[in-house]
Amino acid sequence: MRYLALSDIHSNLEALDAVLRASAAQRYDAVLVLGDLVGYGADPNAVVDCVRNLGARAIVRGNHDKVASGLDNAEDFNPMAKAAARWTRDSLTPQNLDYLRDLPAGPLVVDGAIEISHGSPLDEDLYVVADIDAARSIAAARSALCLYGHTHVALTARMDGQRRLEIEAPQGHPEFAVTLDAGSKYLINPGSVGQPRDGDSRAAYAIADLDRMVVTLYRVAYPIEAAQKKILDAGLPPMLAYRLGMGR
Ligand code: ZN
Repeated sequence: MRYLALSDIHSNLEALDAVLRASAAQRYDAVLVLGDLVGYGADPNAVVDCVRNLGARAIVRGNHDKVASGLDNAEDFNPMAKAAARWTRDSLTPQNLDYLRDLPAGPLVVDGAIEISHGSPLDEDLYVVADIDAARSIAAARSALCLYGHTHVALTARMDGQRRLEIEAPQGHPEFAVTLDAGSKYLINPGSVGQPRDGDSRAAYAIADLDRMVVTLYRVAYPIEAAQKKILDAGLPPMLAYRLGMGR
């Protein structure tokens, strides 16, 4: 089984299109969506429609999906994120608002084989940013492989049978493969499709091949200027356009 994993699309249709084109050529059997379909970008409805059409095997909600759909307030958001959340909420169709509101909370175990979560498997809103978070999160995961998002930074963490932790943050690679060994547990963030923050502006995604026991993290270029122009034209905070070019 080959799973395509998409996280943190954030209403960036150009990035999502590029990822779907590249991954179609690589072949996959099922799609997993790790939350934050909307927020920041200018195409919330087109992105939600596209994700709905993918017929994902499993999908969990992200914090921006909760705020945009009115499940949560924007108290913890910075002013930029708050403005984008308000704009997104006003732009979404009633059908897409309902869809986002009904998305399940993570973590979810899929096909008894792979776990997905927006933030940590400990808590859907918890950012995994340090070794201690990764260690606690891997220990809490119910599957040997857990895919998560939320930080917008590609990361692979492995805990072996002796509970030793190894973390890698692949940078600048068009592809980065992790071979899964049977005695270890893994926590892997594919990075963000629509708003990468690791200094690499290319869209990020992953394919988890559970037959070959390999997870590959990919980066693909997309027409950033087109996504930026839509953000500026929509009257969203200009920084949300500029940061796409910096990958920050
Ligand atoms: Zn996000």
